[in-house]
Amino acid sequence: MRSYSLIAPAKINLYLEILGDRSDGYHELAMILQSIDLADQIDIHANSTEAITIHCDHHQVPTDQSNLAYRAAALMAKEFPDVFNNFGGVDIRITKRIPVAAGLAGGSTNAAAVLVGIDLLWDLGLTKSELEELSAKLGSDVPFCISGGTVIATGRGEKLSPLPSIDNVHLVLAKYTSLEVSTPWAYKTYRQVFGSSYIRDTEDLLARAHAVHSEEIVKAVLNQDAVKISQKMHNDLEKVVLPAYPKVLALRDLFSSQAEVLGTMMSGSGPSVFGIVESKEQGEIVKEKIRAAIPDDDLELFVTKTIKNGIQISQK
Ligand code: ATP
Repeated sequence: MRSYSLIAPAKINLYLEILGDRSDGYHELAMILQSIDLADQIDIHANSTEAITIHCDHHQVPTDQSNLAYRAAALMAKEFPDVFNNFGGVDIRITKRIPVAAGLAGGSTNAAAVLVGIDLLWDLGLTKSELEELSAKLGSDVPFCISGGTVIATGRGEKLSPLPSIDNVHLVLAKYTSLEVSTPWAYKTYRQVFGSSYIRDTEDLLARAHAVHSEEIVKAVLNQDAVKISQKMHNDLEKVVLPAYPKVLALRDLFSSQAEVLGTMMSGSGPSVFGIVESKEQGEIVKEKIRAAIPDDDLELFVTKTIKNGIQISQK
């Protein structure tokens, strides 16, 4: 029986600007997304039945049809019914390392890995852009997760414009395990508070999305300047999440006060917070200092780094 093992990296946002509303109920966004080497492992086995099964030992991850990895497999079965009838269903095992509901695209990267894995398992030979198009049906962050790297994402987050990859920049990432922020809640609250300042005119929206390409942070990415990137990071969602979650605000302040930290921010809708540092060694120092200041077992801490790829395959 054929099987594939895939590595599914998390992402952080280096930039997240909310531009306006869309007719489909989502927001028009301008983001810079960055893959990091903190990753889940996804093992996919053909099972010769009609069933899609999910196995995951992490208590925060559902193993029913609501799991994004399940939805990715179900989408492939629906899009390619003859191939599905021929090859049968799949057993999907998720080894979870990415903190859940953290703003790190954990579910999205699992779904991207399932699409890539099933494409291989069923010999479909889909191109990157075909996979990205399919993946947009599962969620806004899934297309990015396929190829990863450093990317400007606009629209709902599915329009991707690759930048030169920022490889090997180290960061310390922190997340309270039991603290979950609902992404829909964060966007809904933002709309309630800041909706009056949204760009309404379609042409103005397009112009603003385009203008992001000449933002200071994009120049810093083009120059591979980690210090400048750290100074120019921005996330609109901090404006609603930080006031509502004092522990996250305190964590962010603690990162800011560390001499070794070049810049700090919440990723996506949070509540994960990261601090960029000059080296792995500096990262370990910061991790120890944060741990000493917050000796709470509920706080997960990782020293990780940026990487230039999305889903990686290793055939068993
Ligand atoms: P994003 O950054 O894309 O908004 P996130 O990192 O904030 O996502 P996830 O880790 O994807 O959030 O989890 C969001 C919710 O999705 C969780 O509450 C979890 O129950 C559910 N979920 C469904 N499938 C998965 C999966 N494969 N991995 C993790 N969570 C999943």
